[in-house]
Amino acid sequence: MTETADVVIIGSGIVGSSVAYHLAEQGCTNVLVIEREAHQGKGSTGKSMGGVRAQFATDVNIEMSRYSIDFFSRFDEVVGHPADYRAHGYLFCATNERQLDYLKTNRSRQLALGVKNVELVSRDDILKFVPQLRADDIIGGTFCPTDGFVDPHSVMMGFMLKARERGVRLWLDTQVIGIETLECGGSMPFSQRKVQGVVTSRGTVSTTIVVNAAGPWAAQVARLAGTELPVEPLRRQLVPTEPFNQLPQRFPMVIDMSTGFHFRREGKGILLAWNDPDETVGFKTGFDPKFVEKILTRAADRVPCLVDAEVNPRRAWAGLYEMTPDHHAIIGPAANVAGLYFVNGFSGHGVMHSPASGRITADLILNGTSDLIDASELSLERFAEGRLLEETAVL
Ligand SMILES: Cc1cc2nc3c(=O)[nH]c(=O)nc-3n(C[C@H](O)[C@H](O)[C@H](O)COP(=O)(O)OP(=O)(O)OC[C@H]3O[C@@H](n4cnc5c(N)ncnc54)[C@H](O)[C@@H]3O)c2cc1C
Repeated sequence: MTETADVVIIGSGIVGSSVAYHLAEQGCTNVLVIEREAHQGKGSTGKSMGGVRAQFATDVNIEMSRYSIDFFSRFDEVVGHPADYRAHGYLFCATNERQLDYLKTNRSRQLALGVKNVELVSRDDILKFVPQLRADDIIGGTFCPTDGFVDPHSVMMGFMLKARERGVRLWLDTQVIGIETLECGGSMPFSQRKVQGVVTSRGTVSTTIVVNAAGPWAAQVARLAGTELPVEPLRRQLVPTEPFNQLPQRFPMVIDMSTGFHFRREGKGILLAWNDPDETVGFKTGFDPKFVEKILTRAADRVPCLVDAEVNPRRAWAGLYEMTPDHHAIIGPAANVAGLYFVNGFSGHGVMHSPASGRITADLILNGTSDLIDASELSLERFAEGRLLEETAVL
C-alpha cells in the first residue's frame, strides 16, 4: 500500500525539523519527514558552531535573527526541550576605519529594525571582555549581548520531538530517490508541473507538497524534480583546543575583522574558526590537518597566549556550508513545480535562522504568505531577476 502524507519534508536536520514543528503547531500534522541517515544530525547541523547573532548587514537577515533569537530565549518553555541558549554576545573588532564604518552602518540598520541593544564599543571596552587580546591595532567595534550560542543538536531534537508528539512521522534510514510530478499545462499559469509524490528506498509516498530541507545536498534533491538550485557545498573546519585556562571562563564570540578569525569558549577549551579563502566548492567532509597551522597562526596573532594552547587534530572536524551566490537563504515555492518548496542555502546561518525559516515555510505552505518577512525577497527567482541581496557579514 502506498503511504500518503499532506506534506513530505526531505531532510531531518535542524531546518527540516523546524519546518515539521511549525507545520504541526499550525495544525498540519499529517507530515512525513524522510531522512536517509540512521540518526538525525549527520549533516551540517551536527557540525555547526552553534552561533546565533542579530549583527547582520541586510534587513532580511536581521529580521530572521530577531525572530529566531527571541524564539531561542523561550525555546525551553515553548518546545519543552533545552536549546542551551547562552547569551554571551558577539564582539566584532575593527582594525581600520572602513571596518568600523561598516559596523556603524549595520548597527543603525539593526537599531531601526528593533535590535536595540547593539553597542558601539571602544578598544578599552573590548579589552574588558578579553584582556588577553592583542589590541594595538583595534580601533573599536560592536557588541550585542543577546547574540550568543545554542546547542544545534538539542534544538533539532526539541523541534522534532514536539512535532512527533503532535503526530508528525519520521522515517530514518530512508533515501528519497525521486520526486514524481504530473504535467498540469495551462491550468496553472506559473507551473508546468505539480508534485504527486516521492519515491524512496522504502517505497513511494503520495503527497502534493514536498519540502526540500536537504542542506548541502539541496541541489541534488531539487534536480529530482527537474529544478536547478544554486546551492553549493563549501567545507568549513573547526579546531577545538585542549582545556585552556589563560582566557576568561565566559566571554563573547570574538571576531577579528582583520582576518575573519573568530573564537569562543567551548567547555574547558576554546573553539577556533576561520574561513579559509582558499577553500573550494565540493563535498569534502574530511578535516585537513594542514588547517591547524593556518588557524593557529591567525589565533596567536590576535591572542598571543593561544601559542600555549594544545590542539589534537583528531578532535577537529569539518562540515559543509550550503552556499548561495548572494549568501542568503532560498525560501519559498518553486515557480515551475507546484507543491515543491525550498528552505535551503543558509550559507552558514541555518542553525541561527532555523526558527524563522521553519515558521516562514509553514506559513507559505498553509497560508501562501508570511507576516514574518516579505518572503519574495528570498525566492529562487531573485537570481534570474537580478535582485540579489549581498550579505557581507558572513563568518
Ligand atoms: C563547521 C560549521 C560551522 C557552522 N556554524 C554555524 C553557526 O555558528 N551558526 C549557524 O547558524 N550555522 C552554522 N553552520 C551552518 C549550519 O550548520 C547549517 O546552515 C544548518 O545546519 C543547515 O541545516 P539543514 O537542516 O538545512 O541541513 P542538514 O543538517 O545538513 O540536514 C539535511 C539533511 O538532509 C538529509 N538528506 C539529504 N539528501 C537526502 C535525501 N535524498 N533523502 C533523505 N534525506 C536526505 C541529510 O542526510 C541531512 O541529514 C555551520 C556549519 C558548519 C559546517
